[in-house]
Amino acid sequence: MLTPMTGRSVIVTGASKGIGRGIALRFGEVGAKVLVVSRRLEDAAKVADEITAAGGIALPFAADVGREADARAMADAAVAAHGGIDVLCANAGIYPTTPLAEMTMDDYGRVMDTNVKGTFLSVIACLPALKAKRKGRIVLTSSITGPITGVPYMTHYAASKSAQLGFMRAAALELAPWRITVNAVLPGNIMTEGLAGLGADHVATMEASVPLRRLGTVFDIANAVLYFASDEAAYVTAQSLVVDGGQILPEGGMMAPEVEEAG
Ligand code: NAP
Repeated sequence: MLTPMTGRSVIVTGASKGIGRGIALRFGEVGAKVLVVSRRLEDAAKVADEITAAGGIALPFAADVGREADARAMADAAVAAHGGIDVLCANAGIYPTTPLAEMTMDDYGRVMDTNVKGTFLSVIACLPALKAKRKGRIVLTSSITGPITGVPYMTHYAASKSAQLGFMRAAALELAPWRITVNAVLPGNIMTEGLAGLGADHVATMEASVPLRRLGTVFDIANAVLYFASDEAAYVTAQSLVVDGGQILPEGGMMAPEVEEAG
């Protein structure tokens, strides 16, 4: 049982759907005050409404994390509405597919702007408020793609997710004097709107490659984020936690044997 998050101010970027929505709902359940961030206010508002309807505290905020002014406004909004910032979940990310031979620097830039620059800008904007707490938490949503595995047509994405881990290690050192921890969750294939958009065939192939025989849920990831944000994780920094149902395990394509369902 983790120490309750009652009254903690938590920012979740990319929280209008998918993994970010799961993270926001989970923090709402455990009593945090959640700033639900995405570029479209009406989508963020739906998730904030879900949290408040369940008895939690949440506010929607529209920001493009790749824009410096938006990131600063996001941090200011959390401080003004929720009295500071205890936890930043830098989760917003995009994962378009583009063959390397056709990739333009616009394709590359769009991915880097959200996934890498967005991480930098979100952290930089939240730093004064996180430092003031002397126990701030930064949790990044990276991926197994890049840091551990490779996927064709996702070179820009894989590079961006590895970049987040390099950032994490250097930032963890730099921010340790303020007792800010920086950690990352590395999801495998998680059933989200974004993933569904890759097509039914893609999803079926992914499912077949997971030893635990299912895609992850957004709450599988949210629970790992919650741990990194907790008081119990105070001595854990610059670590990455793979949450993938064993997806990266099979050697040479060797899957675990099929078993009968327990009756
Ligand atoms: P998703 O379902 O497509 O949702 C993405 C969220 O990010 C939406 O709320 C979107 O809302 C927001 N967003 C996108 N660009 C943004 C920007 N520039 N500024 C602010 N918000 C922005 O994605 P997901 O599958 O949940 O993925 C979330 C994170 O998990 C990403 O970092 C991704 O790399 C990582 N991940 C996902 C999987 C997976 O299997 N799903 C696996 C590994 C890692 P708006 O469009 O309204 O801004």
